Amino acid sequence: MKTAKKIKVLQDVIQIKSINGNEAKVADYLANILNEYGIASERIRYAEGRDNLVATLSQGDSQTVLGFTGHMDVVDVGDESEWVHAPFAAEIVDGKMYGRGTTDMKSGLVAMVLAMIELKENNVPFNGTIKLLATVGEEVGELGAEQLTKLGYADDLSALLIGEPTNYNLMYAHMGSINYSVISYGKEAHSSMPEQGFNAINHLNEFITMANEELHKVATDHVNEELGRTIHNVTVINGGNQVNSIPSRAVLQGNIRSIPEFSNEQVIALLENIIQQLNENSPYHLELVIDFNKIPVQAEKNSELIQSIQQQFETPLPLVTAAGTTDAAEFTKSKNQFDIVVFGPGEATLPHQVNEFVEIDNYLDMIDKYQAIAKTYLQ
Ligand SMILES: [Zn+2]
Repeated sequence: MKTAKKIKVLQDVIQIKSINGNEAKVADYLANILNEYGIASERIRYAEGRDNLVATLSQGDSQTVLGFTGHMDVVDVGDESEWVHAPFAAEIVDGKMYGRGTTDMKSGLVAMVLAMIELKENNVPFNGTIKLLATVGEEVGELGAEQLTKLGYADDLSALLIGEPTNYNLMYAHMGSINYSVISYGKEAHSSMPEQGFNAINHLNEFITMANEELHKVATDHVNEELGRTIHNVTVINGGNQVNSIPSRAVLQGNIRSIPEFSNEQVIALLENIIQQLNENSPYHLELVIDFNKIPVQAEKNSELIQSIQQQFETPLPLVTAAGTTDAAEFTKSKNQFDIVVFGPGEATLPHQVNEFVEIDNYLDMIDKYQAIAKTYLQ
């Protein structure tokens, strides 16, 4: 495929507004171009206008399956007036393409699709299967990855390459992430007669004190050499509606970044235990809701997949970890165990910001690198 066309394809995909939805339009576009080059694909509907896309390219008799995965959704553009180039124009200036999703992560996703196309177009020999898993709703709960994993689409993988931006670093591990809410029910009363009510805010306050203490102890007692220690923060509080009324309802939200040494299950059990203690023999009532629960991912540093990538470079790429979660947190729940690495075009610091961009050279190079990695891994 000509370079100009590779750039045009990325521009076309950036110009599709898929902010937390509308991924079916991206899936349509990718399915069409794959089809143009004789690669069939399958749509897996998540919801109206939201389709995951799965495509495979096979050669030889090997059962080895290399997964390529990327998400088709992007986050909101934020304050549009702060964008120097319109967020969905995909303008190119000085070798950079600007737009929402250029880095996170349509450049990685499109590079994977075009790598499959070029392998086919040029009859490059390999032995095994390349399986593209293009997902919906990564930014709001890894919805597509969760659905595809439950349906068994990850069960045959030998390795999974995630094209999120890492800018020539290999990310082999990231922390888990748990979002929770605590709803506190009290009883309304006039603030001059507090004995007639129960103050919902006071009880949240007790929860915060206990949760901070106990999770601080967890962070002291457990460490992961690569990811660090459990992180806990209460980040949102809402409650009360009038300054001279005892509030009957208050809600807080918190986020926890977890490590394998103190699992998500253990964290949730700890929170449940605090709620239970506070609810016992009390006129108050606290309720815990887990809004988001993604497990930490820690893959083998010297896996065959990582070796296949390192072989493409004269100087080995740095191995890194991150606090942020990816679709890997869902795909690793598959019955099968497989090698994982995150490696894609774009700067890891740019996602979710205004004036997001990708270096065109980086994007084009990754189309070649993905082909070389597939060829090496699927020997
Ligand atoms: Zn992303």
